[in-house]
Order: sequence, then structure tokens, then C-alpha cells
Amino acid sequence: MAVDPLIELRGVNKHFGQLHVLQDIHLTVGRGEVVVVIGPSGSGKSTLCRIINRLETVESGDILIDGQPLPAEGRDLARLRADVGMVFQSFNLFAHKTVLANVSLGPVKARGRKREEANRRSRELLERVGLADQAHKYPAQLSGGQQQRVAIARALAMDPKVMLFDEPTSALDPEMINEVLEVMQQLAAEGMTMVVVTHEMGFARSAANRVVFMADGRIIEDRTPDDFFTHPETDRAKDFLSKIL
Ligand code: ADP
Ligand code: MG
Repeated sequence: MAVDPLIELRGVNKHFGQLHVLQDIHLTVGRGEVVVVIGPSGSGKSTLCRIINRLETVESGDILIDGQPLPAEGRDLARLRADVGMVFQSFNLFAHKTVLANVSLGPVKARGRKREEANRRSRELLERVGLADQAHKYPAQLSGGQQQRVAIARALAMDPKVMLFDEPTSALDPEMINEVLEVMQQLAAEGMTMVVVTHEMGFARSAANRVVFMADGRIIEDRTPDDFFTHPETDRAKDFLSKIL
């Protein structure tokens, strides 16, 4: 169990109508930890990400971010939400804004930063994701891999305590996957706390502290990558690995 928990889910349950999409989820992510979530399509991985910053509500259980219960609404929710950066499969950049404006918008609007200060920091972040020379362009002028790196910089610009990635490379052409994984790998090495839903097992093996395997709305394995990949315990995990490896 992690010593210094940054995310804690305790007995979380969620339904979509009759479908029990998250079933008694207990998960702790420690500060600086990288947790990779894998599992078959429909097992509840995206919903798990979405409840962590309350893009979806839950019916029971507790969600704590850095020791604070996630409030139902209001200013406290906005503040806690800003602590959680999200990167989705679709990059969701603002098409009519430059790369630089995409990255600096959040800090100016939601964190009250001065425009020049936000731009300076955004340029630093663009440099970190290898896009210093693309700041003036518009999203459509970039490749998918570059757009996803902008999305990562944009999330980092809010100074989140934790970054959630929901299949960040699934929409990319194969030759662009590595440039995004490398940025994520670097973030992990710098100590960012990360929850990553991905089918990239190479990333899981090299960057994850733990692999969480989900099936039918439950967490059925939560182990080190080494343990998980060499000795999966459940038939569901064995079956899943045999299909993707
Ligand atoms: P995964 O990301 O592992 O593929 P999801 O969390 O997206 O799984 O979905 C889990 C299940 O919940 C799926 O059966 C999906 O169809 C269903 N689901 C997801 N979002 C909704 C929604 N907004 N309304 C109804 N059903 C949903
Ligand atoms: Mg999903």
C-alpha cells in the first residue's frame, strides 16, 4: 500500500442504468506512482478515469484527491478538478487558437495567471514536449502525435498533482505513438503521479509501478508489471494477455 496516497478510491460503485460499470472499486495511487490500467473494451477503464475528476458521479464510495474528498459541485470541485490533468484519446484542442494559446488559456482563465507569465510558462512546456518551434501554428497544421503532445502540455500548464491518460495513443498512426510515449515516460521519470489507460505494454513494463487489470467493472489484479506480465493470476488476465501480446 502506498505511503503517501494522492488518489484514493474506497468502495466506489457506479451504474449506467442496469449496467454495474464500477463494482466496489478500491484503488490507491501514491504520490509519484505510475499506475497503468489495462483490460478489455467495456471493462470500465474510461469511467474509472472520469469519476476521478467527477466528469461522472458515483452512487457510493469515497474519492479523495490528496486527502480531500471530491466535493459534489461548486468552487471546491473546480479547485480539486484543476489538480487532475486529463489527456484523452481525442486531443480536443481548440481549432481556432494557436498552439501557444491552447496551452496558456487554462492558466489565464482558471488559475488567474497574467497573460505574459502564462505564455512564458507555456513556451517552457512546449519545449519540454519537443514543440518549441510549433507555438504559433494551429492544431490542424500539426500531426496527430504533435497535437497529443500539445494536449499534454496544456494539461501540465494547470500544474496538476496527477495526470490521467485515457488511451492517449489509440487514435494515432503507429509511427507517432513513440513520440507521445516518450513524453509520458519522461514525465514519469520526473516523478509525476500518473494513471494511464493504455494497450502499450512496452510502456506498462518500463514506466509503471503497478498494473491494474480490470474486467467487467472490477479490479481483478493489482500487481507490479513484472508479476503481472510473467505470472497473471486470473484466467481473465491470461486470456487478455494472450490476445494482445
Ligand atoms: P472501457 O474504457 O474499459 O472500454 P468504459 O468505461 O468506457 O469502458 O465503459 C464501460 C461500460 O459502460 C461499457 O459497457 C459502456 O458501453 C458503458 N458506458 C460508458 N459510458 C456510458 C454512458 N455515458 N451511458 C451508458 N453506458 C455507458
Ligand atoms: Mg475507454
